Amino acid sequence: MNASTRRHDLERLAGGETVDVVVVGGGITGAGIALDAASRGLSVALLEQRDLAFGTSRWSSKLVHGGLRYLQHGEWGLAWECAVERATLLRTVAPHLARPLPFLIPLDDAVARGTALKSMAGLRVGDGLRMAARTSRRALPPPRRVSALEARRLAPALRASGLRGALLSWDGQLEDDARLVVAVARTAAAHGARVLTYAEVTGLRDDGVEAVDALTGAGFMVRARRVVLATGVWTGALTGAVELRPSRGSHLLVPAYRLGEPRAAVNVPVPGEHGRWVFALPRSDGLVAIGLTDVPAPGEPADDPQPDATEEAELLDRASAALATPLGPGDVCGRYAGLRPLAAGDGETADLSRRHLIVDDPSGALAIVGGKLTTYRRMAQDVVDRLTGRPCRTHRLPLVGAAPPAALRSVCAPERLVRRYGTEAPALAALADGRPELLELVAPGVPVCGAELLWGARHELALTSSDLVDRRVRAGLVPAWRSAVVEAVEALGLDAVAEAGRTPGM
Ligand SMILES: Cc1cc2nc3c(=O)[nH]c(=O)nc-3n(C[C@H](O)[C@H](O)[C@H](O)COP(=O)(O)OP(=O)(O)OC[C@H]3O[C@@H](n4cnc5c(N)ncnc54)[C@H](O)[C@@H]3O)c2cc1C
Repeated sequence: MNASTRRHDLERLAGGETVDVVVVGGGITGAGIALDAASRGLSVALLEQRDLAFGTSRWSSKLVHGGLRYLQHGEWGLAWECAVERATLLRTVAPHLARPLPFLIPLDDAVARGTALKSMAGLRVGDGLRMAARTSRRALPPPRRVSALEARRLAPALRASGLRGALLSWDGQLEDDARLVVAVARTAAAHGARVLTYAEVTGLRDDGVEAVDALTGAGFMVRARRVVLATGVWTGALTGAVELRPSRGSHLLVPAYRLGEPRAAVNVPVPGEHGRWVFALPRSDGLVAIGLTDVPAPGEPADDPQPDATEEAELLDRASAALATPLGPGDVCGRYAGLRPLAAGDGETADLSRRHLIVDDPSGALAIVGGKLTTYRRMAQDVVDRLTGRPCRTHRLPLVGAAPPAALRSVCAPERLVRRYGTEAPALAALADGRPELLELVAPGVPVCGAELLWGARHELALTSSDLVDRRVRAGLVPAWRSAVVEAVEALGLDAVAEAGRTPGM
């Protein structure tokens, strides 16, 4: 997918081609639906107002949850769905992007013995779901209690005084959420879906949708037998069929060296709030993400939501409770926030169900809201089951770049690239043939190389400098990284080329 395929797809659709289904919204939900429908043999157009993963899907905690937390709310169905989808992602669909991550619950003064026993019982139930979903114990080992020494080996910044040990358990982590969206959309395109970014849908009709090409301002119509809205927190602009109560979740990013290069995530209980935690998640890019808040966010959804000062202070405070040296504002090198597209209900946003909801719009369109990144495949299956009787195939369908972990270990390319691009890493590295500097980091400590930027423009439908910097390589998460990568994009001439609608070097 690139600027040329977009132009071609736009010409076909605006020229009157009728598709079986038009999917509106290029987040994980819309990309998942496009893939499910295309892989069942339906003709599909996916229209995204900005870029793939422009919305909530790039602001997640990047976890593939086994569903343990939903058990606390008695949502057994959702917990089971999460455990099954986690197994499918880790084993078949995206083993290159999803992998196991150890989690510690430190047992210190803040965790009474009774609470520790209850937490262990919960972890064992979660492990039961893991077994029932047939995830091997080699992939996700069962929970166990570890000594204070072992806990500090996994997370060296933990405060030693008062530490009795820790509970160790395992869950799934994504290399990056936006990369998952791009991989799903590209797999959909490989099954024939037409994927148009910078195509804003402005109206629903009973024979399709009206849209505007955001690059030229030209209006066009896409004719479709069925319309599906997967527009997240923006759904209210296109249909009144469902009421949303978005909530903001914020993360802070700190350099991993500040926390002693942890190899495990740490869950710290929020005092006085049963079942709520602040976590510190080590990432593969040398950062640790500290999250997560849950604050009502009424009104127009922001394109670029930001944590407020209270959330930032709260996260630093709560994480510091378990650390030998407290974190301060000076340790934060990046921050981000996302809006959860929760369906309205009674009570606090933290208590609203994360289950997805499919509703009918009077125009005949279906709208899907809520759900999780983890369960995107199942959500897509539920929607497409309403459109066709053909059987779903996506539980057996690896995404582009996917291969079993053993096969990934033998891919001949730098390890960092295999982690992000899977079996496509050698093809990406080959872009540097004759220009080895394209495999070097664009600046010291900035985990991005020039070949990734070329790859994004040539194969991943990056049309603007921001598409590359903020959503294909994620340098936008750290302002200091962002400026270095913007410079690299300009030096490669990719900013002007992409924005002019041409594809570099093709
Ligand atoms: C802070 C936070 C942390 C989270 N952490 C996790 C986690 O660790 N694990 C997990 O499984 N889940 C997590 N989630 C949940 C998960 O991220 C979301 O459920 C999911 O990303 C929602 O995806 P979506 O595609 O429905 O919405 P979005 O990603 O918002 O996609 C909607 C898309 O529709 C487009 N659009 C809107 N209007 C139009 C229009 N008129 N025309 C064309 N396009 C349009 C938007 O530009 C956008 O790209 C988290 C959520 C938040 C907020």
